[in-house]
Amino acid sequence: LGGSISRALQQMSNATIIDEKVLSECLNEISRALLQADVQFKMVRDMQANIKRIVNLDDLAAGHNKRRIIQQAIFNELCKMLDPGKPSFIPKKGKTSVIMFVGLQGSGKTTTCTKYAYYHQKKGWKPALVCADTFRAGAFDQLKQNATKAKIPFYGSYTESDPVKIAIEGVERFKKENCDLIIVDTSGRHKQEAALFEEMRQVSEATKPNLVIFVMDSSIGQAAFDQAQAFKQSVAVGAVIVTKMDGHAKGGGALSAVAATKSPVIFIGTGEHIDEFEVFDVKPFVSRLLGMGDWSGFMDKIHEVVPTDQQPELLQKLSEGSFTLRLMYEQFQNILKMGPIGQVFSMLPGFSAELMPKGHEKESQAKIKRYMTMMDSMTNAELDSTNPKLMNESRVIRIARGSGRPVRDVMDMLEEYKRLAKIWSKMKGLKIPKKGEMSAL
Ligand code: GDP
Ligand code: MG
Repeated sequence: LGGSISRALQQMSNATIIDEKVLSECLNEISRALLQADVQFKMVRDMQANIKRIVNLDDLAAGHNKRRIIQQAIFNELCKMLDPGKPSFIPKKGKTSVIMFVGLQGSGKTTTCTKYAYYHQKKGWKPALVCADTFRAGAFDQLKQNATKAKIPFYGSYTESDPVKIAIEGVERFKKENCDLIIVDTSGRHKQEAALFEEMRQVSEATKPNLVIFVMDSSIGQAAFDQAQAFKQSVAVGAVIVTKMDGHAKGGGALSAVAATKSPVIFIGTGEHIDEFEVFDVKPFVSRLLGMGDWSGFMDKIHEVVPTDQQPELLQKLSEGSFTLRLMYEQFQNILKMGPIGQVFSMLPGFSAELMPKGHEKESQAKIKRYMTMMDSMTNAELDSTNPKLMNESRVIRIARGSGRPVRDVMDMLEEYKRLAKIWSKMKGLKIPKKGEMSAL
């Protein structure tokens, strides 16, 4: 996929005369690649038309940045398609929200419910899980097991067969217990069928969820639009989570789900494990969709942001797969030196959506400074270690004392490090391009 897009753009750059025909051929090639990534046929066609409208042939003929102009136009179009224009309902810590999960059987609802609960629990929320799936044998056991492992309260029944009754009881109970995130897992069927949608409608009517999340398997291909639309027609879907992004699927169906539900993607699932769950970030997602790798923008940013004399060392370390605490510290230093953060670093995977949410730049800056204060109390061995087990309890306590911060803050900082290290470890084995060889985005 990536190959065919680069090839298409390469042909384009080589052509001396850029006319309608060359542009069309190039767009056709890219469209084929997007279809292969499961982007809906109609959306690909619309995008093609938009690009032709946006891209000015005269500009292409005159400038030498044809590749960049087209790539940027496609990139922007795809980003726009993932933006429904309004944010989803955002639950507030300490205030009760009921969140209902819907989706076909096997899409990853039960797994994702637990991930969602766990994600919030780690941030100090009081989540709870309600199993309103009475259709599949073993559904309650699965949820119970997940919940127990993550120490999240749960509710369900082995004998009751009415999902609406269980949903109501569960929500009531956890409201009384002052849980602030009551998550209702529902049943799915193999196919979209009337009985399922009627059940979803009833559960939704009974529990009055603040948000209904549609869970979609990234590998369902072109079926995404119809499936999402069918759910949207029976319940008020307000957000989408795309699962199994660790597999081969590029996730083009996400564009369909956004279009069909007019709701944003909020998280992606990247594995079976409870913490394989990421805040959705448009730009890396689109890079992946185009087969450009998450790193094309990243490499450019490294050259833009990291002082020239530090670049070879940083890239070398990343390609070896060693992202140490010291490396994180140095990147924080770079961020703070740059002034308005978030803007410049918005393309660095992991640094944007999670560490520096839009509109919270001040808090992010303060958090980074706090992290650095704690890291100042670490030894060289700790900063340069690549062994995550090194940071045991006594070291954490020593660092907390040394920096005058609570132990919880040190744990937070180490969590952040682990998260970034995991994302950045994908750089391992990367061939390091020289300046000027980078993707033009
Ligand atoms: P449900 O029927 O919608 O509740 O789906 P489940 O939560 O039971 O998940 C179905 C299967 O998909 C299980 O084997 C999960 O472990 C797996 N699964 C869910 N999310 C992910 C993911 O993000 N990545 C991978 N690789 N597997 C997942
Ligand atoms: Mg389930």
